[in-house]
Amino acid sequence: MVAPEVINKMVPLLADQYGNPSSVHRLGRQAAEQIAEAREKVAALVGASAPSEIVFTGSGTEADNLAITGILRLSTTRKHLITTAVEHPAVLTVCQHLADQGVCELTILPVDAVGQIDLRQLESALRPETALVSIMLANNETGVVFDVLAAGEIVRRHGAIFHVDGVQAVGKLAVNLERLPVDLFSFSSHKLHGSKGVGALYVRKGTPLQGLILGGQQERGRRAGTENVAAIAGFGVACEMAQDFLTQGMVKVGALRDRLENSLLAAVPESVVNGEITSRVPTTSNMSFTGAEGEGILLMLDRHGVAVSSGAACSSGSSAPSQVLLSMGLSEDLARATVRFSLSRYSTEEEVDLILQVLPDIIKNMRRGRPS
Ligand code: PLP
Repeated sequence: MVAPEVINKMVPLLADQYGNPSSVHRLGRQAAEQIAEAREKVAALVGASAPSEIVFTGSGTEADNLAITGILRLSTTRKHLITTAVEHPAVLTVCQHLADQGVCELTILPVDAVGQIDLRQLESALRPETALVSIMLANNETGVVFDVLAAGEIVRRHGAIFHVDGVQAVGKLAVNLERLPVDLFSFSSHKLHGSKGVGALYVRKGTPLQGLILGGQQERGRRAGTENVAAIAGFGVACEMAQDFLTQGMVKVGALRDRLENSLLAAVPESVVNGEITSRVPTTSNMSFTGAEGEGILLMLDRHGVAVSSGAACSSGSSAPSQVLLSMGLSEDLARATVRFSLSRYSTEEEVDLILQVLPDIIKNMRRGRPS
């Protein structure tokens, strides 16, 4: 949900303070100040060394596209890209597209059964012509966290540029980009209770990057187009609030997630948690229930007012099992028997109680119909 504090910030900027930040009159200057203020707050949350390292985009997807395409377009000698099998489509599709177009060669690193990459495989995949390595900090389906510190050190040694998709991590884990060997870092406002329609790309000072959207000089020429002032200002508030909640608040969310998981494991036979338990963001739980149907669980829980995601993406009438789970070695059936619970600072003990009350029976009833 969008934090009420974010909405309070945004509404006046949509209603009366509607200036265009490129205008020099007072309303325009006020809008530009709102953006400058937000840029400082956003930069502070991820530990950028200067607000100018933050480029506002229209989404996390756009930030990923800008990072990957923006580097490859400028790279004349290095034409090789490395990513992982479990990236979000915002990264994987772009990498695949560039490879299909003949812009670069692509290496996709596999993951093991708990969704981790092997850093030795990263090291051996790097070549003198590798332009960019793009990996995520936290996985959107399992919550598994990659060791971007160690990965970044390896990438640095080989002289490639390192992009990290931090969309699922910002606001859930402390991120200090000043200390991490990361050149580009994407994140998104709606993942930390800001509004949809705004994301950001951190670009370390000195990193060569070509903008995707060309036109005016907004965002120092790296992202043309009149800024979404209200959404950007709201993003600033969301980052400030996330910072306050980061330590103690996230410990509480993690405890709630663990209670949900452990109680379900105890109550539902043949249930399993997917992903490396000890290296995950505290907000995500990905569980498979053998013989059940994730999409069915989703629909049944929806009737109780509980929104979860399943391990299959419904597209054009067929439900394709999650590539992330298949990459971890789950069978198609088990991937389809999967649901993902996403918790947040607004999640309550009562919501967890409700799931614990209804879900074991939902699964039991589903299993009754399965062939033995
Ligand atoms: N990267 C990851 C890991 C995500 O989870 C998402 C969205 O869920 C994105 C990128 C795309 O972000 P956005 O929804 O802001 O386009």
